Amino acid sequence: MVPVSASGGYDVIAVRYGTRLTTKSDVFLHYGLYGEADEAMQMDYFFWVLRRDGRAILIDCGFNEASGARRGRTMLCPPVRALQRLGIDPADVSVLILTHAHYDHIGNIDQFPAAELIMSAVEFEFWTSPLGTRPLFATSAEAEDVEALRRAHADGRLTLLPKPASVPWPTAHSVAGDLTVVEVGGHTPGQLVVLARTADGEAVLASDALHYYDEARLDRPFAHVADLPAMYRALEFLRELAGDGTRHLVAGHDPEVMHRFPSVADGLAVHIGGACRDGLAGEA
Ligand SMILES: [Zn+2]
Repeated sequence: MVPVSASGGYDVIAVRYGTRLTTKSDVFLHYGLYGEADEAMQMDYFFWVLRRDGRAILIDCGFNEASGARRGRTMLCPPVRALQRLGIDPADVSVLILTHAHYDHIGNIDQFPAAELIMSAVEFEFWTSPLGTRPLFATSAEAEDVEALRRAHADGRLTLLPKPASVPWPTAHSVAGDLTVVEVGGHTPGQLVVLARTADGEAVLASDALHYYDEARLDRPFAHVADLPAMYRALEFLRELAGDGTRHLVAGHDPEVMHRFPSVADGLAVHIGGACRDGLAGEA
C-alpha cells in the first residue's frame, strides 16, 4: 500500500485518451421506457492521474490500441504517450488502481511493470471465474486483459481489496492518506469509486459507477449492468456526495468533464479542482 504523506492533497488530472459516437438507446438501460426520441451521443474515454511529492498514482489505464481498433473506438492519444505528454514517466507510476476489469480500463497494465496493482477481490474473482466468460459479460472484457490480471496476481503484484461485508454499504478502503476507494458494485460486481483529497476539495472519481452525469441527474441506469439495485444505490451515493457542494464529481465517460474543469496539456486533459464544485447542477 502507499505510504501516508503528511503533505497537502493530490494533484488530480482526468485524461481523455479516446472517443466514439454512440446513441442514447445504447447508453441508457431500456431507454424506450422514457418515451424520448433517440439521439446521437458522444462517449469519451478517460483515465485519471493523482500526483503528489513527485509520485504518480494511476486510476485505470485505458484500452490498448488493438482492442480499441477492434471495437471501432478512436484512440486520441495512447495512455502511455498521454502520460509522457503530462511529464510523467510510466516507469515512475508506483500504484495503479483498477476500478473494474472492462477492456477500456485495464488494457495496458503490462505497460506499468513497476506498479502495484489494486482492485476489488470480488471483481478479480468474478472475471477469472466461468461466469465472467458468459457472452453478456465477456463482451465488455478482453480475455488477454484478464490473463494479464491473472499473471499479475501470480507474480504477487496485485493487491485485492477484501470482500465487503453485506452491511454497512458501501465498503470504503483507505489506500493511503487522502485516498480512499469505495466499492459500490452495480456496473460490475466490484466496481470502485475513488475519493482523493485535493488542495481544493475532494475529487470523486466515479469511473463507471457514473458514465454520464445524466445517470445521476435523471436516475437512469447505464445499459451494461451486473446488479441493478446496486447501480441505483451507487447513483444515490454519488448524488449524496455531490450534494453538499464541497466535492468535484467526475463522471467516467462524459464529454462534459472536459468543459467542467480547466484544460491542461493542450486539451489532452483537465485539472480536477478550481471553481467547478456544483455537483450535478452543471449543464444539462
Ligand atoms: Zn468504461
